[in-house]
Amino acid sequence: MAAKKRILSGNRPTGRLHWGNYFGALKNWVGLQDEYDCYYFVADWHALTTGYEHTEGICESVKEVLKDWLAAGLDPKKSTIFIQSWVPEHAELHLLLSMLTPLGWLERVPSFKDMQAQLADRDLNMYGFLGYPLLQAADILIYKADFVPVGEDQLAHLEFARELVRRFAFITKHDVFSEPKPMLTEAPRIPGIDGRKMSKSFGNAIYMADSDEEIRKKMMAAITDPARKRRQDPGDPDVCNIFAYHKLYTDRAKVAEIASQCRSAGIGCVDCKKLCIQNAIEFWTPIRARRERWEGKDDELLAMARAGSERAREVARLVMEKVRKVMGVVYG
Ligand code: SF4
Repeated sequence: MAAKKRILSGNRPTGRLHWGNYFGALKNWVGLQDEYDCYYFVADWHALTTGYEHTEGICESVKEVLKDWLAAGLDPKKSTIFIQSWVPEHAELHLLLSMLTPLGWLERVPSFKDMQAQLADRDLNMYGFLGYPLLQAADILIYKADFVPVGEDQLAHLEFARELVRRFAFITKHDVFSEPKPMLTEAPRIPGIDGRKMSKSFGNAIYMADSDEEIRKKMMAAITDPARKRRQDPGDPDVCNIFAYHKLYTDRAKVAEIASQCRSAGIGCVDCKKLCIQNAIEFWTPIRARRERWEGKDDELLAMARAGSERAREVARLVMEKVRKVMGVVYG
């Protein structure tokens, strides 16, 4: 039987995950587990590249992310679930690759300037921030991942890793790594309750772990079609955040019916919201129940991540043995 192709992906530990994180990536990761050899890691070192001044929340955030992953259905029996800093070989590969990575390559990565502009309140003139695409490349290459699930906006990072594979082979005359391919995933755009992209930093997110009451409160406050002022005005579902949520939680036939009722003022926004809230709660109830299984059990949670990290290390160590050898830093 042919070996399963390997997939690698990760999340920065930013705290509890929201609906955008779930429908944008996590749901897809869960679906890949049977067909692929999946490696999913919490990228705690990456959190430091932009948050090196405020590290006090990282520990709690790592645990929250792990709980959300398990709640969503990532299964440690099927996937290797680990914490980046528990596989220190990532750092060693990052260092060795840094020796042959041209500075200009790092400066050209489009997100470098974009993120600097977005996070203008932080001093990001640090090597850690400039070098984060290289750390990301090391994360991928150390497992010889065949595929990396990415959105269009992350293609440049993956191309960076692919170019690095070619440069490493050219300079060392050894093919240690293989070029990872993008697995382009079509993620629906999940708006926050204010219509902007759902994001923790915008304060417009609904979280995977939110209670029924929190879901209800946030959804009742969500902006609908701003032009629909009165019940008798026809609405435009395509500009309505609640309608975007219906597409996630309500069956297709009903979604089509709501769209037409909205356009003909056949349904009011309050009733439309109530239906959507009911469906969202129904969707999240079993996921939240799985999350509760891990509440108050940090030791067990971290033991699971420790076991995954050890499994990942076995692979990473073998690759590092080869890398050290071809880079001439093995003695005796
Ligand atoms: S009826 Fe529903 S889809 Fe239409 S604007 Fe109101 S909440 Fe949005």
